[in-house]
Amino acid sequence: MSLGFGRQYLAIPGPSTMPDRVLSAMHRAGPNIYAGELLDMVEALWPDLKAVAQTQAHVAAYIGNGHATWEAANANLFSRGDKALVLATGRFGHGWAESARAMGIDVQLLDFGKSSAPDFGQVEDALRADGAGSIKAVLTTHVDTASSVRTSIPGLRAAIDAAGHGALLAVDCIASLGCDEYRMDDWGVDVTVAASQKGLMTPPGMGFVWFSDRARAASAASDLRTPYWNWGPRAQASEFWQHWAGTAPTHHLYGLREALTMILHDEGINAVWARHEALAGAVWAAFDAWSAGNPNIGMNVADPADRGRSVTAARLGAPFATRLREWTEFKAGVTLGIGLGMADASDPAYHGFLRVAHMGHCNAHMTLGALAVMEAGMIALDIPHGPGALAAAAALIGRAA
Ligand SMILES: *Cc1c(COP(=O)(O)O)cnc(C)c1O
Repeated sequence: MSLGFGRQYLAIPGPSTMPDRVLSAMHRAGPNIYAGELLDMVEALWPDLKAVAQTQAHVAAYIGNGHATWEAANANLFSRGDKALVLATGRFGHGWAESARAMGIDVQLLDFGKSSAPDFGQVEDALRADGAGSIKAVLTTHVDTASSVRTSIPGLRAAIDAAGHGALLAVDCIASLGCDEYRMDDWGVDVTVAASQKGLMTPPGMGFVWFSDRARAASAASDLRTPYWNWGPRAQASEFWQHWAGTAPTHHLYGLREALTMILHDEGINAVWARHEALAGAVWAAFDAWSAGNPNIGMNVADPADRGRSVTAARLGAPFATRLREWTEFKAGVTLGIGLGMADASDPAYHGFLRVAHMGHCNAHMTLGALAVMEAGMIALDIPHGPGALAAAAALIGRAA
């Protein structure tokens, strides 16, 4: 028997659950792209896009996903042969580094493994060793979606300042924007990249790059910048089409409008961050209880301060993570995330990892429901686990709300 015939819950760390309001806003006839209400609506979108990243800087939007925003940032920031210092804390820092290398950028990689936040002392040392100041930018991931490691952006900024280095700071917030506290201007960030389908609760297909005046000035001479990727006209278009270097992503824009209204005007960004903090805490409380009864169960990141608030990476011991994911999806309608980047898919160990998303449009009943379904699956599959996980998660939600 399956008990999965009801509304499905996609609890993977992107694409995340889309609000019905976002879906409904997109369900409409195509607008005129040359004049009229679409243009007015988009004019009012830019201030909200800046507000969600807590910045007064510039913002360029692209029809593309997160990978597109890496290339957009690279193309604007660098010339061929320029040097980038890239921090990796799981999978996605490597991804940005690979994209930069393929574009002819000279990448120096600091790899902090799959479970640890960066050691800022190493960052400072690497910058001090660059006496000539040839490192043009430091690229980092805020929350690595594969490992769920969170990097302290103020900590990284302080390391760059302590080294007395003039490198720009560029941050991948694809998994964290609209979930984890993020303050681009207060934290001294020059470039932020994000995509539509995670905390921004909109279908995959739009990417965003916010950039400071300093980044814009530094990029003026970039020889990697082709017309499509150039952030200048996208951020300061004299004609509407220039925002998109062509046709606008019309329906995504209606969806995004609704999502930003929900985040900024209905709930408020501080409340959105607090909600994710509470939901993350419930998931962590459950894992702490489960792992007390089975050493194979555990969260990937030991220190809560180093954990992202939008996704939790965990292990259950192979093959139980895969078996549990299959059980929750087919028996109970909850799709959990695969364990990304922790082991190769051909390695039996791969089946020991999974991720629970608490990203974007999710609330207490969704997260508590997902945890209860996971525990039901552990019972069904005879996976040993410590008691009290659901009570601990519920207690946390009860105290937080
Ligand atoms: C999802 C994600 C990406 C890649 O985004 P795509 O839209 O899949 O290209 C990059 N970085 C982080 C941190 C992500 O979470």
